[in-house]
Amino acid sequence: MSQHKKVPITVAHGDGIGPEIMEATLHILEKAGAALDIEKIDIGEKVYLSGHLSGIAPESWDSLRRTKVFLKAPITTPQGGGFKSLNVTTRKALGLYANIRPCISYHPYVATKHPVMDVVIVRENEEDLYAGIEHQQTDEVTQCLKLISKPGTEKIIRFAFEYAVAYGRKKVTCFTKDNIMKITDGLFHKMFDEIGAEYPQIEKEHWIVDIGAAKLADTPEIFDVIVMPNLYGDILSDVAAQITGSVGLGGSANIGDGCAMFEAIHGSAPRRAGQNLANPSGLLLGAIQMLVYIGQSDVAEKVHNAWLRTLEDGIHTYDLYKENVSKEKVGTKEFAAAIVARLGQHPQSLTPVSYAGGQKTIEVKLKPTKEQKKELIGVDVFLHEKDRNPNHLGEKIKNIKAGNMHFSMVTNRGIKVYPNGLPETFCTDHWRCRFKSEEYKPSTYADVMEILKQVNALGLDIIKTENLYTFDGEPAFSAGQGQ
Ligand code: NAD
Repeated sequence: MSQHKKVPITVAHGDGIGPEIMEATLHILEKAGAALDIEKIDIGEKVYLSGHLSGIAPESWDSLRRTKVFLKAPITTPQGGGFKSLNVTTRKALGLYANIRPCISYHPYVATKHPVMDVVIVRENEEDLYAGIEHQQTDEVTQCLKLISKPGTEKIIRFAFEYAVAYGRKKVTCFTKDNIMKITDGLFHKMFDEIGAEYPQIEKEHWIVDIGAAKLADTPEIFDVIVMPNLYGDILSDVAAQITGSVGLGGSANIGDGCAMFEAIHGSAPRRAGQNLANPSGLLLGAIQMLVYIGQSDVAEKVHNAWLRTLEDGIHTYDLYKENVSKEKVGTKEFAAAIVARLGQHPQSLTPVSYAGGQKTIEVKLKPTKEQKKELIGVDVFLHEKDRNPNHLGEKIKNIKAGNMHFSMVTNRGIKVYPNGLPETFCTDHWRCRFKSEEYKPSTYADVMEILKQVNALGLDIIKTENLYTFDGEPAFSAGQGQ
């Protein structure tokens, strides 16, 4: 019997393969002596289709806010229909800013092209393109807002370094695309450099995400901890888990201040559902991280070592099974039973896991954001205009001005098309017209409204505006391509 006091947790069985892998996981935890007081909630497809657009009923939040620990199986997000991703909503609503995804290979017991791999992906979990702010603006053009904030970035980067220190990791790598997105990804990279300087004992490096991803897929052994904005982290943690042998091997912890959610990296794999096929390892490894988090490290260690021993004994689900490497192909339930039968055993060749240190509390303290001198110096006015000739639009608006703001240029999908555009440039029905003070002289919002009044008087279809600012005298907006 466990000497632990029962800890309340919220559990959701999810969709697709979710219920099968959750049952397998809970069965193993119970047999290992985890002391859990389980509150079940329904999430996912059924809840979406019953009219809750975020896939969770309001009363389920009460359970999550009470237990503050969520073990969640994957769910299916229905396409279209205004449905919002429950995963993203839960992570954001509970402030689970850090998503930790260890991706480890188990050579020679699990077939992989990368025998030496022990990478922890620390994915920013709350912002980036996952803010979910999307619009269709014209017949032809849609947009998604990419938000990268200073506190959001500072939190995740500090977390990555603190994690590296707590778990004896040597290097933290950052992936961004700041050669293109100089302001948003540029902020992430800049803060990585600034915060990294506070950790002289940790090796640091930055890769542009495209070559970084290629290196990760080719030579994962050169990486240790990798910190990334949300989208890159989402994509590359699937890649990293898959190249260890199967995406089904990846577990994930979503950590916030006082709340946490544990899950598998993968989704609900609907094609595999209901056939006793799925590998429960991802969710089980998430649950092991949960046991450590709630102070049941001894149980976590017991489960983890029994799981390693099962892999080592060649008892594999279909996704891991390889002739000459595996010994027995088993279903979800049989795999769980094999782990239960090995509780108390250690792997003989793979390194046994020790959670002797228990949970390492990672505290992230933010520095207050420095206020900068912000000055309004212009405005981008976005138009829906069917006439594809940029010269017609440019000639119409080139004399518009108000205060210090004058017409500057027209772009189409970011490339300058007036004045002096190239006739070869393909134009859509979505135009950006920039009005600004060339010398960055300050303007007022009344000037913006005056500009809009003049544009509107020409019968043009204004779809949105974006103010142009300088911060401490430096322009805080991108130039037009070809400008
Ligand atoms: P997926 O991760 O569900 O599955 C892709 C493929 O990976 C499967 O067809 C299967 O071959 C393999 N696979 C995944 N998990 C496995 C396991 N445990 N054992 C063995 N093989 C496994 O990705 P998908 O098909 O793109 O997405 C299906 C649904 O899952 C979508 O509705 C998506 O929105 C959702 N999803 C949910 C989560 C989540 O709840 N956290 C995450 C990602 C995707």
